[in-house]
Amino acid sequence: MRGLDDIDTVGVVGAGTMGNGIAQVAAGAGYDVVMRDVEQEFVDRGMDAIDDSLSRFVDKGDISADEKRETLDRVVGATDLADLADCDLVVEAVIEEMDVKRDVFADLDETVDDDVVLATNTSTLSITTIAAATDRPEQVVGLHFMNPVPLMKGVEVVVGEKTAEEAVDLAHDFAEDLDKETWESDDKPGFVSNRILMPWINEGIRAYDEGVATKADIDRGMKLGTNVPMGPLELADHIGLDVCLDATRTLHEELGDRYTPAYLLKRKVDAGDLGKKTGQGFYEY
Ligand code: NAD
Repeated sequence: MRGLDDIDTVGVVGAGTMGNGIAQVAAGAGYDVVMRDVEQEFVDRGMDAIDDSLSRFVDKGDISADEKRETLDRVVGATDLADLADCDLVVEAVIEEMDVKRDVFADLDETVDDDVVLATNTSTLSITTIAAATDRPEQVVGLHFMNPVPLMKGVEVVVGEKTAEEAVDLAHDFAEDLDKETWESDDKPGFVSNRILMPWINEGIRAYDEGVATKADIDRGMKLGTNVPMGPLELADHIGLDVCLDATRTLHEELGDRYTPAYLLKRKVDAGDLGKKTGQGFYEY
């Protein structure tokens, strides 16, 4: 299985919001990138998004105009899957639909060399189910970037039922090489990030719908009250409401009603473990 030292060319499947961001950071870290979408128009749009994003870094003085040009030159657009044949690692970022992802993985399995790791940027879908569309499930891993990719530091590494340790190591190594920081999640619905984030957004939307407060006050309340940079409605807009709905539907299907108080919460309160003030909550203080 190819490790970090074997990787020169990274394939990115999907040139949308996440795909072009992933292509940009990989090229910025010095990798050659092939970014593939189904229509030339979508490839071009992805390329333009990278250009715009890099220009903002130039304007801020973070990179030079030459560095921008070099980064752009490292990204090649493609509409043909065969153009990914020489990639040493592939990151998939197509729409959040299981059937589409499984088709993409089955095709990738036929296209790239046997020892290449195939990563998926899925927000909520099962890595294990996606991996089962290939003959290399041990080489399929979740590499869940956050939006916007060039600005967000975190990457969630998701371990499927059959994912081998080497593939997990590669996912961490690659993300770190892109100057990201990682955490790991088991392949359970929504992983760590969206299992917790999506009900928060969903409840913000419900609170607005039920007239609890204005949109602005819901967002302001969460920002000032819990020290997050964006409130739930603002963040939902930022992620894409369709992406949020797909993710929430998957969670609902898999986990049902998650809004009753957690049993562990009641048990810890009964035990007197109230958090910082008693020296013991979920952590020890
Ligand atoms: P998007 O709609 O912006 O882009 C998806 C792209 O995939 C489109 O350009 C589409 O034409 C292309 N595509 C569809 N089928 C394809 C195929 N067979 N081959 C190649 N390209 C194909 O979506 P996005 O927001 O970039 O999301 C992509 C993935 O990343 C999803 O799995 C999503 O859940 C995940 N994700 C999204 C966010 C977010 O905030 N938007 C954050 C983290 C993860």
